[in-house]
Amino acid sequence: MMADALALPPLRGTLERGGSLADFIWFRTGGPAEVLVRPADVEDLAAFLKELDPSVPVLPVGVGSNLIVRDGGVPGVVVRLPKAMQKVSVEPGNRVRAGGAAMGISVASAARDAGIAGLEFLRGIPGTVGGAVRMNAGAYGRDTSDILVEVTVVLRNGSVETWPAGRLGYSYRHSELPQGAVVVEALFEGTPGDPAAIGAEMDRIAAEREASQPLRSRTGGSTFKNPDGHKAWELVDRAGCRGLRRGDAQVSEKHCNFLLNLGEANSADIEQLGEDVRRRVKADSGVDLEWEIQRIGVAK
Ligand SMILES: Cc1cc2nc3c(=O)[nH]c(=O)nc-3n(C[C@H](O)[C@H](O)[C@H](O)COP(=O)(O)OP(=O)(O)OC[C@H]3O[C@@H](n4cnc5c(N)ncnc54)[C@H](O)[C@@H]3O)c2cc1C
Repeated sequence: MMADALALPPLRGTLERGGSLADFIWFRTGGPAEVLVRPADVEDLAAFLKELDPSVPVLPVGVGSNLIVRDGGVPGVVVRLPKAMQKVSVEPGNRVRAGGAAMGISVASAARDAGIAGLEFLRGIPGTVGGAVRMNAGAYGRDTSDILVEVTVVLRNGSVETWPAGRLGYSYRHSELPQGAVVVEALFEGTPGDPAAIGAEMDRIAAEREASQPLRSRTGGSTFKNPDGHKAWELVDRAGCRGLRRGDAQVSEKHCNFLLNLGEANSADIEQLGEDVRRRVKADSGVDLEWEIQRIGVAK
């Protein structure tokens, strides 16, 4: 944490020093944000960032379904988008426009109701549009980069820009969104489809997820990226890590590319358990697993 209280520009939304992140991120662990900011709208966020000392780090978060927040908290400003940015609307040309805080399921459902196919996979990803755009989230052979037309971002200097998807430098679970840039809106495109068939596919995805993933647990989704030619979970399993524990952190028995907080784990337990798994997989198969979960903040 920075020694002196940060000087902060005015904001119409809410601004909380020491705002808890553990209250809402999926693992329910980790230290607070030095300052947690919820802007009222895009203009509010842009004006705030424009006036904020450029040396202060800015980190957007969604619902934390892909995050380990370290126990010492996050220095600088953490931006969480407000409910007002959860809007989803349908546009001509099989397009869906969604606010950065909208959940994937809302986007998929709006597309289904309008007979737009190709966005069903978002039904299974329990994060926001901002997180999906940043992470190039995907499932069942489709990634966000396949459906994204353009994205509106507020850059760290407060300028608001709309970028074509091609400018995001997408690869597997990776984008080149600049540091501190906040995704405030995205435009997706699918193809014409039958709402009943789209709905059936979404139901199939939901059922398949329920059967294979620890959805009701404190987790962070897939821990490691699938290395070329391998499935991360198979490597973890083969290295004997299914069910492995460190304190109250555990490798899920149900899906061993998921880590769990069984109750009293802290973020250090979870992150070190992940490092234990990486070491064991390296020794067993020679593969260096790369973290997919974003680890943010500082250790205690
Ligand atoms: C049960 C479960 C299943 C999952 N299944 C999948 C899956 O099938 N496929 C998959 O790809 N992922 C999956 N995930 C991981 C996760 O849901 C995705 O990565 C999701 O896109 C993260 O969204 P989020 O809003 O929670 O982002 P967060 O976890 O809050 O943040 C993730 C990253 O996105 C950035 N970010 C968040 N919001 C914004 C914004 N508005 N602007 C700019 N950057 C932003 C953050 O800075 C951080 O770097 C799963 C997770 C869980 C818990």
